[in-house]
Amino acid sequence: MGGATVAANGGIQVEMGKTRYSLDPHGQVRADYTFVSHAHMDHMHRPSRNEKVIASSLTRELAKARGYDLGETTEEVEGVELLDSGHILGSRAIRIQDEVYYTGDASGRARAFLGKCKARQARILVMETTYGSPEYVFPSTAKLVKEVNGLIASAYDRGSPVVLMGYPLGKAQLLSYFFSSWDPIFYHQSVATMNKIHMDHGVRLKAGRAFDPSSDVDILPKGPWVMVSPMASGRSRLMAHLKKQYGAVLVAFSGWAMGPGYRYTMGADYSFPLSDHCDYQELVNLVQAVSPDMVYTVHGFAAEFAKDLRKIGFSARPLAAYQSSLSDYLSA
Ligand SMILES: [Zn+2]
Repeated sequence: MGGATVAANGGIQVEMGKTRYSLDPHGQVRADYTFVSHAHMDHMHRPSRNEKVIASSLTRELAKARGYDLGETTEEVEGVELLDSGHILGSRAIRIQDEVYYTGDASGRARAFLGKCKARQARILVMETTYGSPEYVFPSTAKLVKEVNGLIASAYDRGSPVVLMGYPLGKAQLLSYFFSSWDPIFYHQSVATMNKIHMDHGVRLKAGRAFDPSSDVDILPKGPWVMVSPMASGRSRLMAHLKKQYGAVLVAFSGWAMGPGYRYTMGADYSFPLSDHCDYQELVNLVQAVSPDMVYTVHGFAAEFAKDLRKIGFSARPLAAYQSSLSDYLSA
């Protein structure tokens, strides 16, 4: 057996013998199987009727709540193993026999209710390299949470509310979990919807009050509170209003906060590098654990990270993205 080929083509294409797998395609691509690693929008598309969709049932449910119907999905395909990738609830890496291991978006550390990416040996590793540059080594989560609690405590002392901002699926649930001891706590409507699905699946989040930005901006209480909100610029209408009307302190959470300009770009008062992706060292560790003959990198510092891997003895190159060949797309 063996002899899989991997190519970029509106996503990642894997051919094993006569079987064609399309991994996280951006659009409709001809394949026997389509794999959807997780329910973030950049990985979603509406599959055509004759492809079989491999995804966790949690990914299907989260996608549906966000308006993407993946149709029937399966986790059981012969020769295919799905592994927790630790990125968000329901996220999976895929291993096709012992030939190909694709991480999807992956985290290298356990956080709250999320585990870390489970590595398995494979001949070919296809990995995300969002933070594949040495300056992206994230601090410990416990240290970060402690620092943020200190920040919220001093805001409460001054009577100021705090808005914690992160992606509504994934980051926002971690923020809801880590900072649940503060009261009162508000969840932006889009966060509340995702929190509910997490709670239905046994994640212990505090039931806070939902905040509808179209009707509730002027009826928040005076004095301190915490709100978990999607990432928004401090210059956006909502955030500018919360600052002006309530004196809210804006705190942004992203791996990009390792960079010095991030906080200014976002117009936030503070930013912290809480990430749902592997940092540089965790990416290196993942490669060593999978021990592949060949590594293909996708996203972020793909070329830089592949170069660093070659320096430590791995065969590696970026999987050239977006080289789509029109014949592979179904006509609309
Ligand atoms: Zn993602």
